[in-house]
Amino acid sequence: MKEIVPPLSAILRNDAAAVQALFQQNVVPSYGRFDIVLSHGSGSYVYDINGRRYLDLGGGIAVNSLGHAHSAITESLLDQSRKLIHSSNFYYHEGQGRLARALVQLIGPGKCFFGNSGGEANEGLFKLARKFGHDEGRFEIITTLNSFHGRTLAGIAATGQDKVKKGFEPMVPGFRQVPYNNLEAMRAAISPATAAILIEGIQGEGGVTPARADYLLGLRQLCDEKRLLLLMDSVQCGHFRTGRYQSFQRILEEAVQACTIGSETFLPDGISMAKSLGGGFPIGAFWVRAPYADLLGAGTHGTTFGGSPLACAVALKILEVIQSQNLADNARKVGDYVKAGLEQLAQKYPSVIQNVRGLGLMLGIELTPHIARLPGESTRTQAVRFANLLHAAGLMVIPAGTQILRLLPPLNLRKDEAEEGLEVIELAVERLAN
Ligand code: PLP
Repeated sequence: MKEIVPPLSAILRNDAAAVQALFQQNVVPSYGRFDIVLSHGSGSYVYDINGRRYLDLGGGIAVNSLGHAHSAITESLLDQSRKLIHSSNFYYHEGQGRLARALVQLIGPGKCFFGNSGGEANEGLFKLARKFGHDEGRFEIITTLNSFHGRTLAGIAATGQDKVKKGFEPMVPGFRQVPYNNLEAMRAAISPATAAILIEGIQGEGGVTPARADYLLGLRQLCDEKRLLLLMDSVQCGHFRTGRYQSFQRILEEAVQACTIGSETFLPDGISMAKSLGGGFPIGAFWVRAPYADLLGAGTHGTTFGGSPLACAVALKILEVIQSQNLADNARKVGDYVKAGLEQLAQKYPSVIQNVRGLGLMLGIELTPHIARLPGESTRTQAVRFANLLHAAGLMVIPAGTQILRLLPPLNLRKDEAEEGLEVIELAVERLAN
């Protein structure tokens, strides 16, 4: 891909300070941002406005599924925008129907609803659960500790992390959390008011923790037994990131190999999706399994922008590229390669890396709690300090919590790019180890 050369004037005018000043004066300061002002990207690389290049292994937090400035995305945006950008959900258009069919074919019999973000997709699942339990007075959704389900009011109530709730109490009622990967805790938490269970296939913000196969299968059984909906938040871990369309499909491969009954037919009742689905264009969706697919009837749920012709055209194009270029396989192979490399680093530098987790191109590096500070280093969390070190060396990663770094790169990350990433990480780890 051709790289765009940033204009020289950016350096001369010291635009970085000017952009940061614009933010300070005009943008709500709800994000802790790194000291980087981005200009443009190309493939797996992004450039700041001073022309500095970064290998982007953060992928916009699992969003840029085809990397930056992918020509297929650009062309589908241009193409569709010449025809119909937005209609309204008062009318039909082919793209939304085709995208829903594609997702149904990838997951299983059911139907899809389209929104604009992961938080909104989860809101749809919450409403689905409430509608499902409504006539029996059931409304409660049990979620897990360390989970993350978005920043809406119900999203923070569902999330199993106190830091997102603080200052926004009282919480929306009807959400409770139990430890993840603990079937007995889930069983014990079910009350007569419970309507659904919601988990991530791999906890992302909570530090890249995959669900165990027996946990997934046990939850399915539990939900059948207690007549609960089993809901999965696949906003971060879905869309081929693990090497399969859904993370639970990848996790359950092991169970299938061990001939565990039921694993090959495992399906949740609802799945929320976003992030990689649009490759950077905002789109979210939820899939609902066939028996419940018509629960949300006309007039019960909606959004102005959801499933627009433009969003659907881009999502369909991304699916086409992922499938025609076998990017699920690539995510699996390159992911396995990176994970093996990180595990070697963990062995070589146990004073810095405590653990490596994840599947495919959703990987987490857990740092040890007491890494000595380098001269002049800030007093922020281990994860932020390590991210800063990597940034200085031209590599982008995403912190999770205080001690974990996530790699969520494009699904088309090449092996040589992965090698480059591992080398940069090793240099940083080596510095901290000494
Ligand atoms: N669910 C999960 C698992 C997520 O990781 C996120 C975002 O990081 C969300 C929901 C919220 O998605 P969004 O930020 O698009 O609202």
